[in-house]
Amino acid sequence: MGDRLSVALVTFGCQMNRSRSEHILHLFLQDGFSEAQEEEADVLVFNTCAVREHAVARAVGVITHLYHAALRRRGQPPCVVLCGCMSELLREELLVRLPCVRVLTGTHNIEELPSLVREACATGERKVVFSPPSPHFTERGYRRKGKVSAYLPIAFGCDNFCSYCVVPYTTGPQRSKPHDVILEELDEVVREGFREVILLGQNVNSYGKDLGNPRAFESLLEDIERRFGGEKIWVRFITSHPRDMRREIVEIVRGSRVLCPYFHLPLQAGSDRILALMNRGYTQKEYLRIASFIRERIPEAVIGTDIIVGFPTESEDDFAETLRVVQEVQFEIAYTYVYSPRPRTKAAQLNDDVPQEVKKERLQALNDRLREAYLRRLCVHEGRVTEVLLLEEDGELVARTRENLRVFLEGGGNLRAGSFLEVRLARNPQGKCVGIPVLCQDGGES
Ligand code: SAH
Ligand code: SF4
Repeated sequence: MGDRLSVALVTFGCQMNRSRSEHILHLFLQDGFSEAQEEEADVLVFNTCAVREHAVARAVGVITHLYHAALRRRGQPPCVVLCGCMSELLREELLVRLPCVRVLTGTHNIEELPSLVREACATGERKVVFSPPSPHFTERGYRRKGKVSAYLPIAFGCDNFCSYCVVPYTTGPQRSKPHDVILEELDEVVREGFREVILLGQNVNSYGKDLGNPRAFESLLEDIERRFGGEKIWVRFITSHPRDMRREIVEIVRGSRVLCPYFHLPLQAGSDRILALMNRGYTQKEYLRIASFIRERIPEAVIGTDIIVGFPTESEDDFAETLRVVQEVQFEIAYTYVYSPRPRTKAAQLNDDVPQEVKKERLQALNDRLREAYLRRLCVHEGRVTEVLLLEEDGELVARTRENLRVFLEGGGNLRAGSFLEVRLARNPQGKCVGIPVLCQDGGES
């Protein structure tokens, strides 16, 4: 290895993890490392996910494959670093499954990664470090991938302990970033010319509870509007827990120029019995009440959701309740999952008794119902003239409205990531939401 070590990051899982990797890259670059392609890097950092069992299996496959590819290309082994939720959960067990790992840590020693890597390289020793969660969330500095959309984490960890979910065990209790730091970071992002900012947290509406202020999220949103309301930037936030989705948050977004009316409100299940077993803290009725409040106050708002099928003991009747909610709310965006038992969680003690074929059938039926409901919902958006922002997502140019509705553009024009374009929304014969650019009409006078 030369004097200046090079590093490459590979990220699994959620947006929170993608943002964390941007922070990790910042730490390495600040420490004098350079960035390289995965197969050429001296140091390969894997920021892992543990939310579902197949995420773990997939990560083990990818890590092994990339390690061997880099070994072949470089003629010597790269320093493999594992961090994130999967390593926090499985710890030393991973050294058996992945003997190539040189540095192993979880989610609480991120700031030390560059020095751990230097020590491992200098001494040839393996480094395994796991500390308890730090009391504060002080993470700062991100080497962001794109130039258009910026993640900005406002809190880390989760106190909700939904019975199926491993996140509270892998990330620790919720710790919020101080209000002023978030505003400073937003300022930087605006000055750097980003067009969209996504505030991130496992449950953004409980932001600040750990700082002793249960209304902290409202204050943050109000300050963002006050300070950035005159800027051409879209600010979104994910994820909102339905239990903590206060009406005031909807009202603040409604009256705002900069905050976008997109609410990611994971339903998880429609049956009250299953919701209680999941420890979600709301009933179907309460969920529907908040969803209809959003629809009523901001008719063009987009509601997104996450749904799990096949939770232990889920019957056909329970599942029918999930379909009922889908029909009623007409989500524009949905992520659907098959239940996967996770170590340490409460639900893992229940018998995973819904057969795999039934889970698959329910997932298919759910996706079909989501699609039908989405098509019905599109009628509300059809005909609207609105702005879309062109974003680059996984190497593809994607247009989204302020409300986060994905739009397929019809007709050409100068399409570059970062530009705004005015379009008329319509529906094409395949049922996709399309945007037809509204060209500036030149009256002919000079
Ligand atoms: N904090 C967010 C997201 C957490 S993980 C929230 O509360 O919504 C993202 C999604 O993964 C969850 O919303 C849930 O739908 C899904 N998920 C989490 N654990 C799961 C499990 N054990 N099996 C299947 N899906 C799961
Ligand atoms: Fe997991 Fe529930 Fe926390 Fe979301 S709110 S991260 S699903 S425990």
